[in-house]
Amino acid sequence: MSEFTLDQLRERVRGAIITPGDDEYDDARAVYNAMIDRRPRVIVRAADAGDVMAAVDYARENGLDLAVRGGSHSVPGFGTCDDGVVIDLGGMRGVRVDPVRRTARAEGGATLGDLNHATHAFGLATTGGIISTTGIGGLTLGGGMGYLARKFGLTIDNLMSADVVTADGRLLVASEKENEDFFWALRGGGGNFGVVTSFEYRLHSVKDVYGGPIFFELDEAETVLRFYREFIASAPEELGGFPAFQIAPPLPFIPEGRHGDTFIIMVACWAGPLAEGERAIKPIRDVAPVVAEFVGPMPYPALNSAFDALVPAGLQHYWKASFVKDLTDASIAAHLQHGPRIPTMNSALHIYPINGAVQRVPSDATAFAYRDANFATVIAGMWPDPADNEANIEWVRDYYAATAPHSEEGAYINFLSGDDQDRVRASYRGNYDRLVDVKRTYDPGNLFHLNQNIKPEAVAGEAATAA
Ligand SMILES: Cc1cc2nc3c(=O)[nH]c(=O)nc-3n(C[C@H](O)[C@H](O)[C@H](O)COP(=O)(O)OP(=O)(O)OC[C@H]3O[C@@H](n4cnc5c(N)ncnc54)[C@H](O)[C@@H]3O)c2cc1C
Repeated sequence: MSEFTLDQLRERVRGAIITPGDDEYDDARAVYNAMIDRRPRVIVRAADAGDVMAAVDYARENGLDLAVRGGSHSVPGFGTCDDGVVIDLGGMRGVRVDPVRRTARAEGGATLGDLNHATHAFGLATTGGIISTTGIGGLTLGGGMGYLARKFGLTIDNLMSADVVTADGRLLVASEKENEDFFWALRGGGGNFGVVTSFEYRLHSVKDVYGGPIFFELDEAETVLRFYREFIASAPEELGGFPAFQIAPPLPFIPEGRHGDTFIIMVACWAGPLAEGERAIKPIRDVAPVVAEFVGPMPYPALNSAFDALVPAGLQHYWKASFVKDLTDASIAAHLQHGPRIPTMNSALHIYPINGAVQRVPSDATAFAYRDANFATVIAGMWPDPADNEANIEWVRDYYAATAPHSEEGAYINFLSGDDQDRVRASYRGNYDRLVDVKRTYDPGNLFHLNQNIKPEAVAGEAATAA
């Protein structure tokens, strides 16, 4: 029997502790993906690392499931659980920028919007995602891809250190110099190794960028995708962005009669000298007649939040993903078959470029193994009405089935669904066995198992299906 009671937890914790019956319980248990409806026994809204240590001890001592929540964006809903403990880091969002060293230290529950806002004041930024409400916690631990990746690498390539509460309730500092194996595993290993209470990032000179979305007619999709394949292979690394199938939202820059139509779009982000932006993006504008665009100079955080309104909290989510080495003609044909059928304005098909600086890091230098892939594709089904679940999930699955034969076995773990656990090993390829070793050292009881899970009991080299 555990000696660690809820009353003792309340004594150790400074933040709020919420349990069923409390007025704020339903708000506190809700996560971003409204398809996930779970009822935790205890939600700890951590105020600091001490609270996190107490909550980890409480879950472990009582043999309870433990979910960790940063920005809450996990599509599989890893940030909550039934009848267990949730550590909600949403109250820990502080960011401190050191403009001289060009670093930022951000608490584990900060969002990309928090990080970008704080660093932008100094004309600095680091690689993050494309939606500002995404948490830096989950995004960083999985790898972190976004507009700046071709120039500055993944988010983990800019991670200098992390403060982490481990399964035994200690706080460890992980960096290239301290607990190096642990630091290696954190960079891509997801939430498997502990609760990160703060991340320290390297920053770069990025203030205003030149970019935005450019809409082309759907029957130009083949031309656009073939162009993208060639262009992005050798485009200057300051250029980020991606092609997407997108239903036009009712925005003023899109002709009113075209709202609700489906387009192939290119989203561009030039992070080099502003004066060169127009020239850098010209090849994209020239690829086909432009129907609508919202392109120009803008603060980096503005581009980073430009699509937030399309993906508010409370939608239903089901996603599939793959890494892709070559966007072959057959692969493009599969996109042309399924992309135009995109079912809702919220949904997205994105093909992110991960060449350039991402590929200059060796595949075994961090846990993120697919450094030889050129693209990370995500088929993100997002829709408001649960009545449409079946049709939308079917679109995602059919699309994935058509593209999978032209893709790698593994995918970016942050884009995988809850039913993708059998792809975790493939997603880490040759790094998986070392991850198992680190897991055995730091979390032998698999306390942190609500994630794309690396199981400590898997014997190195044994088949994934046996795990
Ligand atoms: C709309 C949308 C857009 C996205 N765009 C991008 C993108 O552009 N680029 C990209 O790379 N990814 C993107 N993602 C994927 C995103 O990286 C993952 O969903 C990620 O898990 C979100 O992290 P979070 O902290 O918001 O999520 P949460 O649900 O809070 O956390 C997910 C999991 O991450 C772990 N975790 C989170 N914080 C911590 C922490 N501090 N310490 C330890 N473990 C932690 C836990 O295992 C947790 O269960 C997007 C997701 C969504 C829904």
